Amino acid sequence: MKETSSEPCRVVVLSGPSGSGKTTIVGRILSDASVPIEMAVSATTRPPRDNEIHGKHYYFMSSDEFEKSRISGEFVECAEVHRSGYWYGTLKSEVDRIQNSGRWVLLEIDVEGALNLMQIYPEAVSLFLKTPSADEYESRLRGRGTESEEVIQRRLRTAAEELKSADKYRYQMINDDLDRAVQEICTSLESR
Ligand code: 5GP
Repeated sequence: MKETSSEPCRVVVLSGPSGSGKTTIVGRILSDASVPIEMAVSATTRPPRDNEIHGKHYYFMSSDEFEKSRISGEFVECAEVHRSGYWYGTLKSEVDRIQNSGRWVLLEIDVEGALNLMQIYPEAVSLFLKTPSADEYESRLRGRGTESEEVIQRRLRTAAEELKSADKYRYQMINDDLDRAVQEICTSLESR
């Protein structure tokens, strides 16, 4: 799984607090990058939301299934995200499948998982997405209207924690200008 010097690892890992606009950025990277790139589908123990499809948005697993996969080393990284009680993880098989098809792998994962992933892929292009102000995190999060107050409060606390790790990423971006943020990311991929 480790990168060799003759074969670049071609992994892009994107993190940022909830409400920082990661989903939008992901969509734009997939459509605008001039290198072939595919999003890795993560596994999770979180139940699917209404519009979510197994194998497309996530591989939905029971806690037992996830634990078995974790113990047998099927994950590149995994973490209990946002202290939600739900586990999320990147499957090795998913990374291999995408890399073997000659594409870059795009991962949108939490900070804990991303820091672990950077140990395994030190050459990964790591991106931390910020919003212009702390207040804006909150209004974007509330604007989605999908989370309960309890979840919002937990995510805000996690966001403050996650911000402390921003300088461990290769690039930090402020999502106040979407086009510029996407262009910066795409240029950094093309120059590799
Ligand atoms: P949601 O439940 O809203 O789909 O995702 C919650 C968070 O889980 C996201 O902010 C995302 O960063 C994180 N996440 C999604 N997939 C993975 C993964 O494979 N590993 C880790 N560590 N975090 C993930």
